Amino acid sequence: MQQDIEKVLISRDEIDERLDQLAKEIYDDILADASPCPKNGTPIIPDITLVPILTGSIIFVADLIRRLPIKMQIRVMSITSYPGTSTSTKGASVEAALTRLPDNLTGHHVLIIDDILDSGNTLRLVKNILSERNPNSIRSCMLLRKQRPEALAEPCEYVAFDIPDEFVIGYGLDYDDYYRNLPEICTLKPEVYENSSSS
Ligand code: 5GP
Ligand code: MG
Repeated sequence: MQQDIEKVLISRDEIDERLDQLAKEIYDDILADASPCPKNGTPIIPDITLVPILTGSIIFVADLIRRLPIKMQIRVMSITSYPGTSTSTKGASVEAALTRLPDNLTGHHVLIIDDILDSGNTLRLVKNILSERNPNSIRSCMLLRKQRPEALAEPCEYVAFDIPDEFVIGYGLDYDDYYRNLPEICTLKPEVYENSSSS
């Protein structure tokens, strides 16, 4: 696996440090949505539902939620957009069998968690599906955002890292479902793509 890596873009230490900051930002915003208890003034945290998008967000969400000491529900959605050896989007679609959303999210503040904002198709689709369920609010949190106009145009409240417009793997992100277990965010050597037919 290591011999396929071209370069490390973001190290494990950089990820850890940024996740500490990001979790604090999210936590502070959740507290700002809280209302004081009429009896003793302690903040009543509203209902929080996290929606991680499978499969790319798994490592990110596991590291992020352990930094958020609040009661929350977790409801996964599975969206396919880069099937197999693709390195560009093939259009986002929902995998119903792996998606666990309640019909009604009234009263809930929803936080979408995904690995990377690229064309914005996935995030738009997920926001549309969630808004049909009437949550109190919808915010989104991305590990990465590519520096391309489509990604920058899509509203997103939390972004851990802005990166150049290149294909990345590791820390949950895959190529043909490999490399998700790399602890850093990396690029692949061009020869790894050479035998693949689609792009
Ligand atoms: P979008 O729908 O914004 O074009 O892309 C979002 C999805 O495409 C991500 O959740 C991810 O699954 C996939 N994707 C986009 N860019 C990359 C990339 O550079 N590397 C990998 N491994 N997946 C990507
Ligand atoms: Mg994805």
